[in-house]
Amino acid sequence: YAPLAEIDPEIKNIIDKETWRQYTGLELIASENLTSASTMEANGSILTNKYSEGLPNARYYGGNEYIDELEQLCRKRALEAFNLDPAKWGVNVQPYSGSTANFAALTALIQPQDRLMGLGLPDGGHLTHGYYSFPYSIVSETGLIDYKKLDETAKVYKPRLIICGASAYPRDWEYDTLRKTADREGAWLMCDMAHTSGLIAAQELNSPFDYCDVVTTTTHKTLRGPRAGLIFFRKDLENAKDLEKRVNDAVFPACQGGPHNNTIAAVATALKQVASPEWKQYAKQVIANARALAAALVAHGYKLQTSGTDNHLVLWDLRPIGLTGSKVEKVCDLMGITINKNAVSGDASAQVPGGIRLGTSALTSRDMNEADVKQVAEFLHRAVQISLTLQKEAGSKLLKDFVRVATTPAEGNVGYQQV
Ligand code: PLP
Repeated sequence: YAPLAEIDPEIKNIIDKETWRQYTGLELIASENLTSASTMEANGSILTNKYSEGLPNARYYGGNEYIDELEQLCRKRALEAFNLDPAKWGVNVQPYSGSTANFAALTALIQPQDRLMGLGLPDGGHLTHGYYSFPYSIVSETGLIDYKKLDETAKVYKPRLIICGASAYPRDWEYDTLRKTADREGAWLMCDMAHTSGLIAAQELNSPFDYCDVVTTTTHKTLRGPRAGLIFFRKDLENAKDLEKRVNDAVFPACQGGPHNNTIAAVATALKQVASPEWKQYAKQVIANARALAAALVAHGYKLQTSGTDNHLVLWDLRPIGLTGSKVEKVCDLMGITINKNAVSGDASAQVPGGIRLGTSALTSRDMNEADVKQVAEFLHRAVQISLTLQKEAGSKLLKDFVRVATTPAEGNVGYQQV
């Protein structure tokens, strides 16, 4: 054994720099969070050494006695975290990420050429909800899902699968409405709750489990675990008694190889925290902080998609003040505030997004409250004013130079030159 700093000082140095960035910056990327030290300890453990293709008690390799115990415990905690009856729901905890969980779920549920519907990418959907799916959309004036149009489209398009859940939607979902459409069309209803799973576990949002056949999630967003995915499936469907086998076979061998056991241990540790009484308080505070952030921006006269939020996420439409998301993202980077540019309803092109997406999960993990977040809103207001001034006084050339000058000396970082 020798420490990383001795064996590989270059990698150690990169980790140290990123640690500094995370500790000193304000993290507002809605899909990120700060996982606990215990979760990282499990994630960095010797469990990474073990191969365990298959499922507990049915492995292709020997020596899996403790790994079986681990995977079973993780499954149990996943069901407990979402208050699910093991007679009705099962879970596969092996997906490496949210994308592989979704691809495995699609593999289990539909055949090539089957039709699916998901929320359109520019309206807040995720690429894995079917880049080639028939998208449903939001009402441009309100920013809310157009359930009526979705229902009418489904009548004509006859999807085999409807996917709900999003990457940039600040409001809760009407799962009951979607269920009615799915039932009429004989379609599966799947929810990808990746962004909001930590809030759903705390029962702060509607539960997709009341209406969906399959529910997928990442484990590293509001759930605050390591990077991985989970697939929950109904076990009690009369017309799909084989759903469990279909999901398990889709994960392995169709989409993945051996499970990442260190990650499964870290997911289990994170889920234990999700099931604790403190979690409810955390989830409540995430939402209270998002609402406080939204209110502070609205008080400055800015436009938000849906004018507010029900969850951890705020979608800020910058078009009324004549800015693009990428400009503000760059200026924020220079201020140590991490955000991301994001499409807003009616954007002509997803390549030039007119807004930014903000999330409060990570700030809340650092114990920030509404007053702190109000201060963060002031910083964001300042970032926008700086962007406007730079744009107004000398056009984007000055902004380009400003960004280049401000980022080059310290690290030789030229990654920000394209504004
Ligand atoms: N599903 C949703 C709704 C997401 O927002 C994301 C990523 O942000 C994913 C799935 C993909 O997750 P991963 O990056 O773990 O593959």
